[in-house]
Amino acid sequence: MLGVINVVGARPNFIKMAPIIEAMQKYPDRFQPLLVHTGQHYDERMSKSFFVDLGMPKPDLNLEVGSGSRLSCRADRPDLGRVRESLLEPRARPGDRGWGYQLDDGMHDRRQETGGNHVEAGLRSRDMSMSEEINRLCTDVLCDYLFTTDHFANENLIAESVAPEKIFFVGNVMIDTLLRHLELARGLRLTEQWGLKPGGFATLTLHRPSNVDDPAVFRGILDALTAISNEIPIIFPIHPRTRKMAEQFGFRDYFSMTAQPRGLWITEPLGYLELLHLNVNARMVITDSGGVQEETTVLGVPCITLRNNTERPITCEVGTNVVVGNSRDKILHHATAVLKGEASPGKVPEKWDGKAAERIVQILANLDIKRSCPA
Ligand code: UDP
Repeated sequence: MLGVINVVGARPNFIKMAPIIEAMQKYPDRFQPLLVHTGQHYDERMSKSFFVDLGMPKPDLNLEVGSGSRLSCRADRPDLGRVRESLLEPRARPGDRGWGYQLDDGMHDRRQETGGNHVEAGLRSRDMSMSEEINRLCTDVLCDYLFTTDHFANENLIAESVAPEKIFFVGNVMIDTLLRHLELARGLRLTEQWGLKPGGFATLTLHRPSNVDDPAVFRGILDALTAISNEIPIIFPIHPRTRKMAEQFGFRDYFSMTAQPRGLWITEPLGYLELLHLNVNARMVITDSGGVQEETTVLGVPCITLRNNTERPITCEVGTNVVVGNSRDKILHHATAVLKGEASPGKVPEKWDGKAAERIVQILANLDIKRSCPA
């Protein structure tokens, strides 16, 4: 029996973890999975609604770290200790083997008696101003088994001298979730209720500090979006940190309270199925999200990424994504090209086929794990 701690903290983690939990539930004799929520995202719209939409079990433990910095989490070591005490030891039986688990770009608490796995290993933006990039690097160094989504990630890890036997090219768990929920999402009536026509609107997600923390940069983006929204309504489920910055900078006038007939329409953050429904029906998606670049690639919907780099270049090489930076003119130029029908339909990357979680769980089930949890 393998004790597995599945760690989630923020919105994209829930979406990626759901199929892994589902796959582990198929092997009750092999795994003792436990779900730990760090509590980074905690409210209804950023956390709870995803557990409901994706049919995820309630977390076994919530560390309630909130939106504190990495340092404040580290100062909070007793909580991390609780993970081990509450979850590993009471369940360890003679012969049980403890195994730490890691997802995405969170931090991993390496202990002698546990190993760690990183889902989405090897992604690199090479942008060290992003805390996610630092977390990704550290996590890959600390983990024993690295599950990758594409050939770029494999190459990055090999270039960093990672032993090839630690790398497993499994595909993309976020796409597992998308493919499982696509028909359900298509069937929602949100566009109809909001008076939107398929292909007649754009969606927008925006939350990276590089776009919203500097008022001049943020204003330039909003100017571009205003120009685009004169042509086509833009639906903008606004991230809490973006709303906070917009309020702080006095940008309220940029936003409209309806999508009719045009305008930059802000809504609360949407549920998973709702955003998927909008994205599959959108003419284009404008984003600085990591996951949305991947989802639009699989949906075949043009994606304009407002960043100077991406840790997911496969979405540009194979998919529908273009990384355009955050200057007003570049955003407008690329959005205009999409509106003129110049976007490429793209293709789906290798192994983004809905079976990544199953591959991960199969690999874990067959591992010969040497280190034991203390009895
Ligand atoms: N998402 C959502 N509702 C929203 C905005 C995003 O369900 O209002 C989903 C989106 O489809 C994707 C994930 O959240 O699956 C991406 O999360 P986010 O952009 O917060 O994180 P990142 O991928 O950039 O780490």
